[in-house]
Amino acid sequence: MVGSGIKPNEASITAVARLAAATGDGDRAFDLVKNMVPVPNSPPRLRTYGPALFCFCEKLEAEKAFEVEEHMGRNGVALEEAVLAALLEVSSETGKRDRVYEYLQKLRKIVRCVREETSVVIRNWFNRFDCDGMEIELDLGLIRDAIDRNGGGWHGLGWIGKGKWVVEKGSVDVDGKCLCCGEQLACVDIADEEIEVFARSIAGLALDREVKANFSEFQDWLEKNGHYEAIVDAANVGLCQQSFAEGGFSVSQLHAVVKELYDRHGKWPLIVLHNKRVRALLENASHRKFIEEWKENGALYTTPHGSNDDWYWLYAAVKLRCLLVTNDEMRDHIFELLGSSFFLKWKERHQVKYTFAKGTLKLQMPAPFSVVIQESEKGSWHVPLAGSDSEESAQTWLCITRTGSADKTSNQSLTMEASDNGHESSCKGHQQSLDAPEISDSKTTTLTGKRKDRSPSHP
Ligand SMILES: [Zn+2]
Repeated sequence: MVGSGIKPNEASITAVARLAAATGDGDRAFDLVKNMVPVPNSPPRLRTYGPALFCFCEKLEAEKAFEVEEHMGRNGVALEEAVLAALLEVSSETGKRDRVYEYLQKLRKIVRCVREETSVVIRNWFNRFDCDGMEIELDLGLIRDAIDRNGGGWHGLGWIGKGKWVVEKGSVDVDGKCLCCGEQLACVDIADEEIEVFARSIAGLALDREVKANFSEFQDWLEKNGHYEAIVDAANVGLCQQSFAEGGFSVSQLHAVVKELYDRHGKWPLIVLHNKRVRALLENASHRKFIEEWKENGALYTTPHGSNDDWYWLYAAVKLRCLLVTNDEMRDHIFELLGSSFFLKWKERHQVKYTFAKGTLKLQMPAPFSVVIQESEKGSWHVPLAGSDSEESAQTWLCITRTGSADKTSNQSLTMEASDNGHESSCKGHQQSLDAPEISDSKTTTLTGKRKDRSPSHP
């Protein structure tokens, strides 16, 4: 192709790399990608790297596989589960524990429930991981700080704890307590730093689209009034199930939501409502008393003429890290600007939906724990398995703990039985005693969606 003056593109290089890899020549497959002359609109993709990477992994040429992964990173090619499973396996087979840790962390970021093939790789690693005392001993306060900063569910500090690993298959109860080891699973939020970036990006977009002075004024106001636990998208609540032909707005629905939030938190939420709606409500004496009560209690922010209140409630909820009551799926164009996977994660943790079945309000709070790979402050791991939850059965997890963990104690009573493949136990256990203090302590988030204030590590 080069000789004929035609530049090879990504597709043709991938095809040749596949042929090279099929003959076991990973080096050639990798050279092809490395020597690729940039062709506009045809950059290397995951599939271009795949032949070299899988070839090296299969032949246990770990360092070469890592080199391919690093090359992908430099070219902005995102990893997928199959690639990470291969990297995990080659790291595991060659005993590179730091690499296994690094790839488990990468897997945690991109995958929710792992596929069967990946779970086998993970189980094999922990079953063979011998404990030669190299694990780091860390101050619990430092670990908790790291977990808190990261948004919960992982610390990223390395393998911690002592002793042989025990891999069990089991489930967790409705509140997120593991029925194998008794640990409380976390609600995984976005890390502090990322939240700040997210809030700034929302503000940036809003300032471009809204009247700058109005939105800046709101930002300043929020800076001084940041004590809310929940934000209410009042238009969404008031117009729910109303007849649009009549322009109906249900103050009683809005009142029910506000009251419910007040009862739960002992605090007023922030109601965000457009000024034209507020003006209309003030004209009606029975509605006026609600508006006045909310105003008196600092619970109402009236968005100005010409504004899109979506920007206001969204910014407030993100900035204050609190709950957002709305049934809006947030799929409009304005939300598309925010990037999908990140925003999905945020919604899962912060959005409260509601129903008015037969006129009775029901709030649907965010789940008390997240179904994602989790690393605990004790160093144990919990890995949700794909395709294992259905109407009839609960989500299955791998529970991976260490025998030497200080608090794997007799507090727990487990019924063990061999699983089908006989490699590890499956547990249908339950805790007899619930008074394990280290477990309740490990919960760093509250049901309000707002993180608890950090307390000193050492009282
Ligand atoms: Zn467990």
